Amino acid sequence: MYLKRYILSIIYLVVLMVFHAFINYLDFTEYFTSRTSTEADFTKKIYDYIVVGAGSAGALVARRLAEDENVQVLVLEAGKHVNKLLEIPSLGVILQKTQYDWQYRTVPQDTSCFALDGNSSHWPRGKIVGGSSMLNNLIYVRGHPDDYNEWFQNKEGYNYAKDVLTYFERLEISPSNAGGSVYVDDLPYKTELPKILLKAVKDLGFSMIDNMNTAKQGFGVPKINIINGRRWTTASHFIHSKPWNVLFRTNALADQVRFHANFEAYGVEFLYSGNRYLAKASKGIILSAGVINTPTILMRSGVGPRKHLKEVGIAPRVDLPVGENLQDHITTGFDLVLLNKTLDIGIGTMLSPSSILSYLQEGRGPWTTIGCELIGFIATTKGIPKENSIRPDLQLMIMPLGIVEDTGFHLRRLMGISDYSWNRYFSALNNESTVTFCQCYCARRVEDTSD
Ligand SMILES: Cc1cc2nc3c(=O)[nH]c(=O)nc-3n(C[C@H](O)[C@H](O)[C@H](O)COP(=O)(O)OP(=O)(O)OC[C@H]3O[C@@H](n4cnc5c(N)ncnc54)[C@H](O)[C@@H]3O)c2cc1C
Repeated sequence: MYLKRYILSIIYLVVLMVFHAFINYLDFTEYFTSRTSTEADFTKKIYDYIVVGAGSAGALVARRLAEDENVQVLVLEAGKHVNKLLEIPSLGVILQKTQYDWQYRTVPQDTSCFALDGNSSHWPRGKIVGGSSMLNNLIYVRGHPDDYNEWFQNKEGYNYAKDVLTYFERLEISPSNAGGSVYVDDLPYKTELPKILLKAVKDLGFSMIDNMNTAKQGFGVPKINIINGRRWTTASHFIHSKPWNVLFRTNALADQVRFHANFEAYGVEFLYSGNRYLAKASKGIILSAGVINTPTILMRSGVGPRKHLKEVGIAPRVDLPVGENLQDHITTGFDLVLLNKTLDIGIGTMLSPSSILSYLQEGRGPWTTIGCELIGFIATTKGIPKENSIRPDLQLMIMPLGIVEDTGFHLRRLMGISDYSWNRYFSALNNESTVTFCQCYCARRVEDTSD
């Protein structure tokens, strides 16, 4: 038994090394190609729009702008192109902490992250066409109507169905909406975990939800952005449709926005192939570089909190609270539950020839796993579930494996678990088949109505 696990661990390590060698090779070839282009000819003309960042938001915005054939769009993306191999859903997690990830870390925290090295949390953000949606779990949830209602409460004439729901329906590709941008489908593969746990949560009195997009409280199997076993992002659509009026530049790192004296933006200064260039736009510049990089580009351009800009030596142009009010769906940790049986998803199953064949032939099987098979939304007061009508503040993500699965080779490194926490909590279950319960705080704020 131990020998089998030992051999599997070694094979896993070898597979990881081969994968990393492969992405280094991709990196090298793309770097080499871009170095051959020393002159950025594309900066010589004036575009109608410049879109910075081709992630979830930017790729969609660029594609929608390009629907007007009279406009010319330039997309500047700091990351690299997507290779088909990187679209295998289960490999998304392996892209973290590689050159396809900006590899941000938080500053050491005083009140959290105690289990992590240096009390600091790794914040993966995609540095690739598709952005963070190339590393994410692919779970598609529209969000709770009350969140949108709160955001737009001061907007006159606002109506959820007209102003929000319509756009989700327009986004989702369906038989009646071939022009949408994202495929939303069922998990192509799951273990027996959802069946067992759905029975358990039903016994506890929670609702079962067939379509998690109804945003009610309860538990269900998530819908995901996938097609034929491949990860699908808003950028996938953009790349497949190849709009002729969009010039797409990868490896182009936007530095700052240039303004006229009246603060009208007219250009983006960026670094490409080792040189600094200026691209100009006549109608608009869209910064969609993600939740960390968009504020930093603005701040480098002199738009941000005056005091902070002065502290870091940037001449302030416009005093605005840029970079404030950052929200994340923080999680309490990766609590492990030991099973009395092995689920069909461990390293042995993943590496078996039948799993590989099933993926290659039908786009199904364990290689399509997104790492989460059940999600739940609960409204709580101090951790106690509340009535059905209340907006959920807790999201549970239940995963058919745990970070001990690979003896700490990779998943532990990704999380940055400290030696102390590993030895005290995780190592006792090393290499065991476990299930992870991950609790994410998902509300903007909790209104505590208790006494
Ligand atoms: C590990 C992980 C799991 C997640 N799981 C889910 C999930 O299951 N479901 C879900 O709905 N959400 C999930 N998310 C969140 C979701 O992926 C993000 O909210 C979403 O992708 C953000 O989109 P964006 O367009 O704002 O930014 P991004 O998609 O990050 O795009 C920003 C783009 O801008 C580029 N860029 C940045 N700076 C520059 C610059 N200076 N110049 C040029 N280009 C630049 C980046 O390279 C990137 O391509 C997850 C996120 C992570 C990291």
